[in-house]
Amino acid sequence: MKRLGAVFVAVLVITIMASGLAARDFKDKVKVEIESVGLHPGMDPGMYVCASGHLHIKGTVQNLADVPLRQVKVAGRAFDAQGKVLGTATTTTKVDKVAPGETAEINLEFLTVTGPAIQEVKRHEVRVVEAPSL
Ligand SMILES: [Zn+2]
Repeated sequence: MKRLGAVFVAVLVITIMASGLAARDFKDKVKVEIESVGLHPGMDPGMYVCASGHLHIKGTVQNLADVPLRQVKVAGRAFDAQGKVLGTATTTTKVDKVAPGETAEINLEFLTVTGPAIQEVKRHEVRVVEAPSL
């Protein structure tokens, strides 16, 4: 019984080490860009309100690494004039592979930024949180 436990632990350690080696993170090699097109009158470029009333921010991520990436995960925050966080959102690219140099679309949905809160958004930031290699 004791030996079986040791074998199990060894297998677990090897599995963790292998998964750590397999996918490297290239989040510093991904460039985020918010769409420069005005999508909604009176709102910043790249921003719009969906049919359900949420604030959305559209943009792209570009793979600046020299290896293909799996889904890129981004996180966004929306702030009011005082710098208070009005809402947060995370999303991943819809495609399952982003080749070197290629761009992929992202669409952040702020579920808590609805109604009058949308007009209070004065600043936003979008950053890459995960960009594992294939
Ligand atoms: Zn929505």
